[in-house]
Formats: sequence, C-alpha cells, structure tokens
Amino acid sequence: MSDQVASVLKSWGEPAYRLKQVDDARRSGAREWDEVTTLPKALRTRLAEVVPLWTVAPDAMAESRDGTIKWRLRTADGLAIESVLIKHARGRRTLCVSSQAGCALGCRFCATGTMGPGRDLTAREIADQAYLAADSARGAEARLSNIVFMGMGEPLQNTSAVFDAIREIHAPDGLGISARSIAVSTAGWVPGIEELVAFEVPVRLALSLHAADDDTRSALMPINNRWPIANVLAACRRYADRTGRRVFIEYLLLDGVNDNVSDARRLASQLRDGRFHVNLIEYNATGGDYRGSPPDRARRFAEELQEAGLHPSFRRSRGADSAAACGQLAAKAR
Ligand code: SAH
Ligand code: SF4
Repeated sequence: MSDQVASVLKSWGEPAYRLKQVDDARRSGAREWDEVTTLPKALRTRLAEVVPLWTVAPDAMAESRDGTIKWRLRTADGLAIESVLIKHARGRRTLCVSSQAGCALGCRFCATGTMGPGRDLTAREIADQAYLAADSARGAEARLSNIVFMGMGEPLQNTSAVFDAIREIHAPDGLGISARSIAVSTAGWVPGIEELVAFEVPVRLALSLHAADDDTRSALMPINNRWPIANVLAACRRYADRTGRRVFIEYLLLDGVNDNVSDARRLASQLRDGRFHVNLIEYNATGGDYRGSPPDRARRFAEELQEAGLHPSFRRSRGADSAAACGQLAAKAR
C-alpha cells in the first residue's frame, strides 16, 4: 500500500525486509522510531528526521462507563479524526474506524455530516487506527476481533484506500481479522457498492437505509436524490448474491419521522427476499432536530417487521455518555 515510510526506505536503497521490520514493530506496539530496535540505530535516527512512524497519533482519549474508548487522532497534516473501540463479552473488541476526515454527504441526523467534506484518509491512516486499537486491546488482555467502517466518512467514496487497508487488516501477517468480522457501512454510494462486488475480500456490507420511501429518505439523506431506494437495494442484492451473505439494513428509529407501522410494512415489503437483515438503531442525539423513537413505538415497529417474517435485531447505543457513539463523531478540535 502507499506508505510514506516505504517510499523513503526505497528511495534510500534500503532492502525490502526493512519495511517488514517496521511493520512488525508497529504491530507489536512500538510508538517511536527509537523503539524499532530491529533497525540499525543510524537508520532509525535518519528516519525520525523525515517521517513519523505512525500516520495518526492519539491526541485525546475518553472512556465511557460501558468500557467504550474513543480516541481523537491527529493526521500528520493536523486533521482530527476519531475511532471508537467497543467492548464485548469474552475479551472481544470491535473498532469503529474513520475513512474520511469529515463527510460530504450531509445526512441531516449525523454529526459528521455537519462538518462538511474533509479529505479521504490514506490506507495507512486507516490501517494505523486498527493497529493502535489492537495494541490497546492487547494491553487490556483483550483481542481486536471486529472492524466496522462506521466512523467518520463514507468508506465507499474512498474505495482504493479502504480496500488496501482491508487487505492489510485481513492478511494473516497483518491483523488476521476474518472477512466476516469486517463490515463496511455505506449511505448508498452505488458505484462503490459495484466496486465492492468486484473486491476479493468478501466483507460484510451494511446499508444505512433509515427510511422506507424515497420522499422521507431524501429529506434525511440527500444522496437518495442521486440513487433512490430501488437502485441502492438492487446494488446490495448483487453484493448479497456474490458473497452469499445477507446485507445488513441499518434503520435509525426517529420519532414521528420514519417509525410508523405503515413505514414498517413498507420496509418489510421491500426486503422480503431473504437477502437482508434489519438492524434497528437507537438514535444518539447530536443536538439537531431529531429525537429517537420512544421505546413503545420502537417495539411496535419491530413487532410489525417480525410479523412480516423479518427478524430484526436492535443495536443499543454504546458509549453515548462520552459522545463516542455512532453518528456523534465530529472531532471538535480542528
Ligand atoms: N457513511 C457511512 C458510515 C459511517 S456512519 C454510513 O452512513 O453508513 C455509521 C452509521 O451511523 C450509519 O448507519 C449512520 O446512519 C449512523 N448514524 C449517523 N448518525 C447517527 C446518530 N446520531 N445516531 C445513531 N446512528 C447514527
Ligand atoms: Fe456521512 Fe454516513 Fe454521516 Fe451520512 S451518516 S453524513 S454518509 S458519515
């Protein structure tokens, strides 16, 4: 993958195994060039003068009561991005990574969307988020078992870096995380879904649908004007057929917006072909106009889906008390 360290080493005529030594050191948690003791001292010193060992550096950290950890990280050009490590039973951890600094798609309910467009992260910046988290999990005698592209940004607008990062995260000599434990979430960027159909690592795909009709969805997510529901579901079906895995439909329950019984019926009628699994998501308030559905409405919605033969799951909000939850990622300090 494109890696500044790799190009520096190459331009200095260093043998290829040097890069492997650097990668091994990153994997085992070295934070500074001085800790990469497999390299000759003189080389370490020269490297430290021209290139950082990591492309992202932890800048601030917050831990919430449920054990969720949120990092604010800085890129070398000073942008703030965030990644969130979620704690599960039996020492497992899921990392929610960012793929862009900011997001151009402007979904009305999303804190990152209000930041506006930033820039695509590089493959190294994405993989480094995972390596730092893997090291932190190890320190807590836990294991980074899952990666979800549900942090800042739209991963399928940045496929070349995201795919390279996934290749590395998935590789046995990278982090060795299985394809079914990696999930890419999209707001419905159809050309990116098509690229995913051709991608060799059969990761899980999640579609942020959040509405059952085009008018409601377009009001929440401007991208729907470009690729309406029927188009994006068709692309998801192609992905389900190619991988033999169901596509997750993410559905944020918003009070009075998309949580009627009629919405549930309409949703079910479009997803009945066995290729989808619905995840109902609790809304994390971000200070905008929306409120999450009250529990009885959410229950009624779920029952309606159940009666229609879909078996939705509920995604509880994690890390909400430290603003570490999905959709709340908008690094304040810029
Ligand atoms: N851009 C991609 C991935 C990042 S957003 C996407 O939109 O899918 C990850 C998930 O968080 C999406 O399902 C998104 O709709 C959801 N989300 C955004 N704001 C949220 C909020 N305030 N509360 C709960 N989920 C939110
Ligand atoms: Fe971007 Fe996803 Fe937020 Fe929409 S929900 S603004 S696509 S990060």
